Amino acid sequence: MQCDRYLSFDIGGTSLKYAAFHPEGTLAYAGLVPSRLAEGPAGLLRQLQDLTDQLLTGGMTLMGTGLSCPGQIDPVQGRIIYANRNFPGFSGYTLAAAAADRLGCPVSLDNDVNCAALGELYFGQGRGLRDFMCLTFGTGIGGAIIHGAQLYRGPHYSAGEFGHITLDRQPDALPCSCGQRGCFEAYASASALCRRVKQVTGQDLDGQTILLRRQTAELAPVYQAWLQDVVTGLKSLVYVLDPQAIILGGGIMQEPALIRDLDQALNRALMPGYSGLPVRAAALGNQAGLYGAFALIKQKVAGDHDNG
Ligand SMILES: [Zn+2]
Repeated sequence: MQCDRYLSFDIGGTSLKYAAFHPEGTLAYAGLVPSRLAEGPAGLLRQLQDLTDQLLTGGMTLMGTGLSCPGQIDPVQGRIIYANRNFPGFSGYTLAAAAADRLGCPVSLDNDVNCAALGELYFGQGRGLRDFMCLTFGTGIGGAIIHGAQLYRGPHYSAGEFGHITLDRQPDALPCSCGQRGCFEAYASASALCRRVKQVTGQDLDGQTILLRRQTAELAPVYQAWLQDVVTGLKSLVYVLDPQAIILGGGIMQEPALIRDLDQALNRALMPGYSGLPVRAAALGNQAGLYGAFALIKQKVAGDHDNG
């Protein structure tokens, strides 16, 4: 029997997630392999081709492939404007066109946090909402803005760089990966929490362990200080964007107690007009980017069809 499939790939520094979707949006299967980014664009294209060959079995037609990638992305040209050092040779690379040539199907490309926000909009916690913001907490803090039930990208495709709003402008403020000091993510990312705990206790603990022990005498003060820094950043963003909800992703945000603490602390900190703002954990976990990349390629294929 003939059946259509869309594929999506979420390309990360260490792993490459993949998924196959039925056209109506049901996930057929998903998985993860180590990414071969060290081999540059040619290695990634080979890997995408190999996975595509494995994912499509006889009788399946590949309708399109959606790519989600970190960094600054021009989704119109399908080009990576800037990628960090984990992506050697990718800055300036027109990945979508190269992948379309290689795979023989339409390909879309967008930033990973944008894709995650779209995944939540269409399939997760954002369903039924028109205006919300998404933040992902990991090594840094990524952000995306959904406005009027659409992704707001900005004229330079760089809206929602929430990790680099300034939290501390003292000369000795913490350095950030962007080269500046005092950025939100230097204080409030998941990695920042681990660093702060290590400074106080001398122990290398992962985020999950820290959250489990967050009420112990040893960790409560450092956890509360970090929580207040997260809230300080979120509060500024709420005052700018007035969202219907805040959706938080990243491994650490899968802990319901943290979401509860953040919801309470943020709502205490906000002016009364904003009170009752829901803080929610991303529903799709680390598959949000795959769902969003699928949504984008499906829209692109539908648009090409309408225009052609
Ligand atoms: Zn920064």
